Amino acid sequence: LFDSLADQAALAIERIQLVADVDNARLAAEADKLRSALLTSLSHDLKTPLASILGSAGALRDYSTSLTETGRAELLATIVDEAERLNRFIANLLDMTRLESGAAAVSLTPLFVGDSVGSALRRAEKILLHHRIDLAVPPDLPMVRLDPVLFEQVLFNLLDNARKYAPAGSLISIRGWAQDAHVMLQIIDEGPGIPPDDLTRIFDSFYRVRKKDHVQAGTGLGLSICRGFVEAMGGTITATNRFDRSGAIFTLRFPTGPEPANLEGRP
Ligand code: ADP
Repeated sequence: LFDSLADQAALAIERIQLVADVDNARLAAEADKLRSALLTSLSHDLKTPLASILGSAGALRDYSTSLTETGRAELLATIVDEAERLNRFIANLLDMTRLESGAAAVSLTPLFVGDSVGSALRRAEKILLHHRIDLAVPPDLPMVRLDPVLFEQVLFNLLDNARKYAPAGSLISIRGWAQDAHVMLQIIDEGPGIPPDDLTRIFDSFYRVRKKDHVQAGTGLGLSICRGFVEAMGGTITATNRFDRSGAIFTLRFPTGPEPANLEGRP
């Protein structure tokens, strides 16, 4: 559904990057064009699911007596699916806007990563019904200064991608460990992985891997929001592919501290 938006935006961004070092006036003109291309796409991508919701709701209202039980259930399912899609899309756009305007207030608190992973998993429970989860985050990892809301959003986006791109029934592993005064966290899936040339570009806004069989709806915003949030919390995020089999690995790295004793104001 949102492929057209992502493709148009990616093309426009590529064009802008090409002229970046040529001259500023041309760059500004390209930016204006990008903005209007984006606005056009955004309105289209908001209108399409809405049209589908209105159509199904109208049919339910006007033909409810002549519809079979299955027919009614299908219309309701369409309404729920499309509304959820709209909801995710708008949530992504809001996160993006907050990031870009600097309004994503970061409030760092010492946290045990395992606790936040638990909350993110509870939030993602509904979308992970068709995957197996292997959780290996020791509860005694050193504390990390994080914003719980932003951190959970990052984990949610990564889990959402893992379940979107990896087949139903496959395993999503979440591992955490301490290393060189950092806490490391990996989300590992059994999907197709990411083409090597795209491993860094996937973190750019609106970037989506171009594939003929790319059927998953998406905005190309999830990972750029992840990177923005992770960096705002002083961490890094990288993507790699598995060696042992196909699958993507997303690695988060945050400096540890402070020690729990310091939290209580003791020396
Ligand atoms: P979206 O999923 O909405 O397209 P993202 O910013 O979350 O946007 O991801 C950008 C692109 O990176 C996706 O379009 C997809 O091609 C690729 N990608 C992200 N996560 C994975 C994954 N776990 N496995 C394979 N490809 C992925």
